[in-house]
Amino acid sequence: MSSILILGGAGYIGSHTARYFKDRGRELVVYDNLSTGFRDSVKNITFVEGDLHDTRGLERVMERHRVDAVIHFAAFSQVGESMVNPEKYYYNNLAGTLSVLRAMVNQQVQNIVFSSTAAVYGDPVRIPIVETADKKPKNIYGKTKLIIENILKDYEGPYGVRSVCLRYFNAAGAHPDATIGESHRPESHLIPLVLQAALGQRDHLDIFGDDYETPDGTCVRDYIHVMDLADAHYRALEHLQRGGASAAYNLGNGSGFSVRQVIEAARYVTGREIRAEVRPRRAGDPAILIASSDRISRELGWQPKMPELDRIIATAWEWHRTHPDGYER
Ligand code: UDP
Repeated sequence: MSSILILGGAGYIGSHTARYFKDRGRELVVYDNLSTGFRDSVKNITFVEGDLHDTRGLERVMERHRVDAVIHFAAFSQVGESMVNPEKYYYNNLAGTLSVLRAMVNQQVQNIVFSSTAAVYGDPVRIPIVETADKKPKNIYGKTKLIIENILKDYEGPYGVRSVCLRYFNAAGAHPDATIGESHRPESHLIPLVLQAALGQRDHLDIFGDDYETPDGTCVRDYIHVMDLADAHYRALEHLQRGGASAAYNLGNGSGFSVRQVIEAARYVTGREIRAEVRPRRAGDPAILIASSDRISRELGWQPKMPELDRIIATAWEWHRTHPDGYER
């Protein structure tokens, strides 16, 4: 039986997607170098520890597990860090993906679902953002993703590689059973940081800028539940395996919340006091990112099942409350 190779499957979005596929009886193998992922996030799932740059290693896994499709999450994804350490982003995200594509071409694996990002758009001219909008990334992270999207287009004609690029807006929340969730070391994402402040693990939250052109001056983002993202990967892969055409899709809920609104929602959900202090802007942040996900709804029938910010934060809170130190080392 053929199987799906999930690169970076021990990371936050990867592990939730791996669980989603596994629960639907799909054969899969997770490949991850555990640089930011956790072995415990993919318990009971076939796991290979390996690096993207190891093309031969990737090929061996593809052969051994009869891989016929790849879902590629393995990337560094912190906007702020990408601005101060671009080399890390270009080498891993870009060179690493070229190695993956080489292995796919050599092994004739022709389907890939690729993790892209709202950061490909930069500062949007119109809200909500549609897939055809201008792409002028403001940060290195977004640039690496846009370059790969373009490379993928070039691999279709000559090598028959078809791809679905999923442009995530802000992934958030945790599996409803709270056995897996979001954990980064160090943490840089807004919702986990806010919840760490709620737990008393940090004194306060830094708000990166309150002088943006937004209703309350703080940046506005479109938060999407990680299990809704997992479902989008499932649909994208089915689409490719049915012979569907390459495509790129936005994934968001179509509504925006400011940093201050997220803090407020977290205070409500947790019942805890959460202190916040305004700091200077973080380099590379667009003021407002809100998705139109009409295309994926229309073409793949995707609909978010958990669009409400309070519920998204509630699932994240359940994970953080029960796993205050994240995964065991
Ligand atoms: N943010 C913040 N304080 C933090 C972390 C993030 O004010 O400690 C802001 C950040 O500037 C952005 C939003 O929260 O406007 C979401 O940031 P995150 O890093 O979670 O996701 P991104 O939008 O960069 O993918």
